[in-house]
Amino acid sequence: MNAPNDPTAGLVTSRAHSARVYDYILGGKDHYPADIEAGDAMCRHWPALPVHMMENRRFMHRAARFLAEERGIRQFLDIGTGLPTSPNLHEIVQEVAPESHVVYVDNDPIVLAHARALLQSSPEGATAYVDANMHDPDTILDSPEFRELIDLNRPVGLMVIGIMHFIEQPDDRRLVQHLLDPLPSGSHLAMTIGTADFAPDEVNRVAEEYRRQGMPFVLRDLPTAASFFDGLELAEPGIAQVHRWHPGPEQDGVDGRDIAMYGAVARKP
Ligand code: SAH
Repeated sequence: MNAPNDPTAGLVTSRAHSARVYDYILGGKDHYPADIEAGDAMCRHWPALPVHMMENRRFMHRAARFLAEERGIRQFLDIGTGLPTSPNLHEIVQEVAPESHVVYVDNDPIVLAHARALLQSSPEGATAYVDANMHDPDTILDSPEFRELIDLNRPVGLMVIGIMHFIEQPDDRRLVQHLLDPLPSGSHLAMTIGTADFAPDEVNRVAEEYRRQGMPFVLRDLPTAASFFDGLELAEPGIAQVHRWHPGPEQDGVDGRDIAMYGAVARKP
């Protein structure tokens, strides 16, 4: 039986979970047989899935570095953090500016159990973890961790990476807007959004598999993806498949049919 303060108390391991399937496919070690079974089934539907997931993660790396280096952002709110996979967001931005603050948010008990690994901040900076659901944004904004680490007089980087496909309409736009509302001008939104625009048959089969495993899964076309950035100033090159957003040498040779994710970074005016 779990101890009363055991962070894994709410953990259900008999069913696949999105954070652990992602961890499994990316070669991590924090998953269970149900996640392996689900991940293998998804890769049978679409063998490019690991490439796609890796490029999503690499977009996060480049977008975080861009915000820290080019836009001077020193405080970040990361929604749907996932299991610690180095480099994590704080490692990237604190390499640029050690004084950076990062607040991580996820609702998976196993991510919570690993949160300590996410809290290894540079001595000059700070990191914190909030166990909360994106469907309840006020829990995030009212949390002591957010209030303590995030100064709302200075711009914030809101990271919504690799999570929107688990958030169903019609709530999706409102939730992102709700998180942006209190952030001052000069804040930025970095986001990736799942799409079946490039390999419709394969990607729709993966989506079906997630749903069969009990996880909601929403794919969005380009106009729907773009609508998340209404009223914001998109950084170059606008909305692109993630491997085409500020690509580096790692993106050489990536096939566009293997990438089912749009990404963009935009500034709140
Ligand atoms: N942002 C990371 C991890 C993406 S995996 C990256 O891109 O590399 C998606 C994460 O979103 C998982 O850890 C899952 O637990 C979390 N998640 C899914 N739905 C959520 C919700 N409603 N609220 C908070 N976190 C959620």
